[in-house]
Amino acid sequence: MSGWRTDVVVVGAGPTGLALAIGLRQYGVGVEVLEKEARGKREARAGIVWQRALEVLADLGCADALTAAGLSLREVEVFAQGQRVGAMPMRCRDTAFPHPLSIEQDAVERLLGDRLAAVGGGVRWSTEAVGLRLGSDGAEVDVRLPDGGTDTVRCGWVVGCEGSHSMVRKELGIPFEGARRPDLQCVQINARADWKQPYDPARSYFFLERGASLGVSPRPGGGYRFFCFRTDPDPSIRRPPGLREMRDLVAEATHEPGVRLWPTDPPWANRARFQDRVAGTLRAGRALLAGDSAHLWAPIGGHGLNTGLRGAHNLAWKLASVVQGRCPEGLLDTYTGEQRRTAHAVMREMRRNLLELPPTPASLRAVRALGPRLMATPAFARRISATLSDLAMGHAGSPLSQGGAGARLPDLPATVAGRRRSLHELLSYDRWTLLAAPGAPVDDERLAAVTGRYAIPVRTFRPRLDRGTERRLPAAALLLVRPDRHIGLAAHDLPALETYIRRWFVRKA
Ligand SMILES: Cc1cc2nc3c(=O)[nH]c(=O)nc-3n(C[C@H](O)[C@H](O)[C@H](O)COP(=O)(O)OP(=O)(O)OC[C@H]3O[C@@H](n4cnc5c(N)ncnc54)[C@H](O)[C@@H]3O)c2cc1C
Repeated sequence: MSGWRTDVVVVGAGPTGLALAIGLRQYGVGVEVLEKEARGKREARAGIVWQRALEVLADLGCADALTAAGLSLREVEVFAQGQRVGAMPMRCRDTAFPHPLSIEQDAVERLLGDRLAAVGGGVRWSTEAVGLRLGSDGAEVDVRLPDGGTDTVRCGWVVGCEGSHSMVRKELGIPFEGARRPDLQCVQINARADWKQPYDPARSYFFLERGASLGVSPRPGGGYRFFCFRTDPDPSIRRPPGLREMRDLVAEATHEPGVRLWPTDPPWANRARFQDRVAGTLRAGRALLAGDSAHLWAPIGGHGLNTGLRGAHNLAWKLASVVQGRCPEGLLDTYTGEQRRTAHAVMREMRRNLLELPPTPASLRAVRALGPRLMATPAFARRISATLSDLAMGHAGSPLSQGGAGARLPDLPATVAGRRRSLHELLSYDRWTLLAAPGAPVDDERLAAVTGRYAIPVRTFRPRLDRGTERRLPAAALLLVRPDRHIGLAAHDLPALETYIRRWFVRKA
């Protein structure tokens, strides 16, 4: 194995590392994924994939497999101190994935692993990255091999996707800014239940009590995930919760003293405490950070795995474009800025999440007084769904977003060359897409003359949007959409397009 060499080394085969490796392989980039464990996780971790992450997984070729393995969640019902507050649909518009998906993290990782194998990649299990040296045009990663021996992998780029204790981040001396989150713990267990609520595989629940929020989400294969965020009753307790502790907690939160639980097989249960942190930068020369090694928070709202997948999706096309000489290296700095802003935005939302934060007397009063009316208001339900789905998150403020662009392109219906299509059917993860408004003052030939000088493939379409939907897009003659479905440029004329392309694309040799 000596003299091992590849384009990119990905450290860690969690969801982030696997998704990144798939994206890179789809572009034809050589990747080695190193994983210190002998196999994937077997523990209760993330349990939900939100709509934006499902779009990401569609670009990575695994949304169908995940959807088939998970449960589509359609409604959430809320109770506060034993009283029903109301129920809300969980549904978003302008996407091919209107509902979130209930699925175990280990299933997500297994299906990502299958997809990685299908695109010619794989994981080197029991192979731990133990050291790192960066040069001006590459990196060396020292590894401990399954037989206990050591070796060095030489690569163009290394990406630390190895979770909160990231070796790459520590070796580079990048600060992990933030703090431990005091007085919060999450206990969870997967179990079948004998309780008052009828089993509905599309419905999840929240039961709010003073100091504890109990979420209940149906699991593929039957039963539920019971997870409870609560003020920490005893920070010294480390062991996973037993059945009795969880049963008592569920009985108290649901006001059902006779509730009974049977753990699923395997009996997944854990107790976790959290930190809220973001790495000072996600790039140092030829090294990058992604997923939990780049940002970490209490999984209130369930956005850790989801944000890792979205970050991997943002990074894979950029890194592939740089490795293949189609875009300048500076493109990678936009990943750092965009992903750090995203992490801070997710943390802000988490601190406002009234359903999952342990309720205070004031928040309980507010939920009980205002909840019934708000939850019955379609506009409110739409806003909550949009926030949780991550579909509304954009990259405004990034140097890659010009002319008021940055938002994710909504998947609106349109007519293209006489055929009914949706805008996302025109996009592809392996290229950029130029959408020219029907009245755009430039013909296809001139557009092709500009985009054709560059190594990055761009396809042009002239969609005609349905009446009334145009205002959901930036008012511009030309929209240049990135491979990851975000609008990079909203331009009124050809010179603006040329300026943008000149900055971010490399000319053909
Ligand atoms: C209790 C709990 C509940 C959660 N609930 C949710 C939720 O509902 N929704 C959600 O979105 N997120 C949730 N999360 C967060 C989610 O699990 C993480 O955000 C996600 O696992 C991050 O993925 P990752 O690939 O970045 O890192 P990880 O999943 O941590 O993967 C890192 C991998 O790197 C490997 N590794 C580490 N060091 C090395 C090394 N030196 N060499 C080689 N390999 C190495 C590790 O073995 C591991 O396999 C939860 C987390 C916890 C703890």
